[in-house]
Amino acid sequence: MEKPKKVIYLDHAATTAVDPRVMEAMLPYWTERYGNASSIYSLGREAARAMEEARKTVADILNCEPKEIIFTSCGSESDNLAVRGVAFAQQHRGKGNHIITSSIEHHAIGHTCEQLEKYFGFEVTYLPVDKYAMVDPEDVRRAIRDDTVLISVMAANNEVGTIQPIAEIGKIAHEHGIPFHTDAVQAGGTLPLNVDELHVDLLSLSAHKFYGPKGVGVLYVRKGTPLLPIQTGGGHERQRRAGTENVAGIVGLATALKLAYDHAEENNARITALRERLIQGVLERIPEVQLTGHPTQRLPNNASFAFKYIEGESILLNLDMLGICASSGSACTSASLEPSHVLLAMGIPAEEAHGSLRLTLGNENTEEDVDYVLEVLPGIVEKLRMMSPLYQGAR
Ligand code: PLP
Repeated sequence: MEKPKKVIYLDHAATTAVDPRVMEAMLPYWTERYGNASSIYSLGREAARAMEEARKTVADILNCEPKEIIFTSCGSESDNLAVRGVAFAQQHRGKGNHIITSSIEHHAIGHTCEQLEKYFGFEVTYLPVDKYAMVDPEDVRRAIRDDTVLISVMAANNEVGTIQPIAEIGKIAHEHGIPFHTDAVQAGGTLPLNVDELHVDLLSLSAHKFYGPKGVGVLYVRKGTPLLPIQTGGGHERQRRAGTENVAGIVGLATALKLAYDHAEENNARITALRERLIQGVLERIPEVQLTGHPTQRLPNNASFAFKYIEGESILLNLDMLGICASSGSACTSASLEPSHVLLAMGIPAEEAHGSLRLTLGNENTEEDVDYVLEVLPGIVEKLRMMSPLYQGAR
């Protein structure tokens, strides 16, 4: 088949293109309205006003107070501030040093927890998941101790798309008076984010996952939640996060989030249909492949697979040659490294986890894009298997 003229972008979980309407809203804040939001003259006040409008837009979507919104530089920073900020504040108040999280978190949570264990005397329970990457809320309940100071479980997994029972976990955390954080970076723009219905005290978002700019994020912090600032300096963001605010980015984040939720229903329905076409097509056309993640409780745009006998990276390179951008869904770039901690936690054997492929759809994808992938992928897999000693050995 002929290589299509355009790139077929199927890696929306990695990042998305900025929506032109978002770009338009941001532009003036880099050019004629460039004031520092802390300055008292009108140019500064104009920037501050735009930022406060953006804060209100985000707060309305999350169903919280604007002052409960902290703007950050990315999802990773929001996660770091949530985990370290609560952990240190709680430790300082003598509340304890035990944290509960899951074994499938993004490294922004996982590595932060590991550092707290290694250098700061915390103990961390990493909850197991089932074969679909789902956390059992009862496991959360069982892991709670008198000295538990924070629970953090992601809203939806970035590799396999599984949506976690956040509201149930949040209820359990609140029955015990423990602050509950969710990393909603992959859920933002798609799943409902009402913080009261989800029973969360802290929630992370990142604009570049929902057609906003890179380099700007949100941390929602419920009033009264103990939080020690991690980045100190000026009194920005109500003393919780120092640093001159990225006004254009913040305006872009709010515009993108509003656009996403104004159209979430129709976009989710359309993208879910494309996802099902892709998943069914792959499973029908290619032998010895499994869908990874939950069959139904998954992000509308996530189709992820594990192919036996071959390396995900080889599939990616072959897809790239045909103009298709995809991901192996794992943090490793070479088969000699450990495969994805998420797939291993799901009980997928290491050899099979190496054959992972994540295709994540977005607003601009069409049925033709999906059909093109379905046309070329079986041939790529077959070709790679023919060259695979593992495959030959299994025949
Ligand atoms: N958390 C999850 C679940 C993610 O998928 C990502 C990015 O892929 C992050 C956190 C980090 O976000 P950022 O790239 O904005 O630092």
